[in-house]
Parts: sequence; C-alpha cells; structure tokens
Amino acid sequence: MIQSPLKSSTEPTDSHWTASGSSPPTVDLSDFEAAVLPLGGKCQIRNLDLSPTKRDQLNAAMANGFGSATISRTLGKWGFAVKSDTVARHRHGQCSCKAPS
Ligand SMILES: [Zn+2]
Repeated sequence: MIQSPLKSSTEPTDSHWTASGSSPPTVDLSDFEAAVLPLGGKCQIRNLDLSPTKRDQLNAAMANGFGSATISRTLGKWGFAVKSDTVARHRHGQCSCKAPS
C-alpha cells in the first residue's frame, strides 16, 4: 500500500463538512485564488533591471524561438534567477504585462 502524503492530518479542521454527505456550504478555493496570476507589475520579466541592450536581446531571443529554459539559463548568467515557467508565462502573455493597469 502506498500511503499518500496528501492524506496527512495537517489540516484537521477541513474534515467537519466532508463527512456530512450533503453539499458543503462553501468550497475553499483559497488554493486556486492563491494561484491566480498577480496583476499590476508583478511580472518578473518586466521588472528585471536589464540594460536596454540586454532587454533587446531578451526580447529578440523570445521572438526568435529560443526555449524558455534556455532563456532562463541565460538570465541566470546575467544574474537574474528567473524560472523557465516565468519566461514561458511571459512569452505567452499569461502574466501581468498583458493586464490592463
Ligand atoms: Zn510579463
């Protein structure tokens, strides 16, 4: 038997409505709400303190199809710890850069 780590009893207060059999009055969506992309200048790519030259290089790399992991590593060499997921989110417009502010 594999014991799921998700079944740990770290949140004992969550069990009060699961055993009732009826619909829970409210669903805890805090995990999802916490994952909603932040709006208003939180994009790490936009906020990088890059020189104009490096900013142009970064934009060109994205426009020329360099992989997000490659760009992430390059940014790391430049001294910026940016995850490839962050790069991918930015290049696909799934970040605060595209949000109206
Ligand atoms: Zn962005």
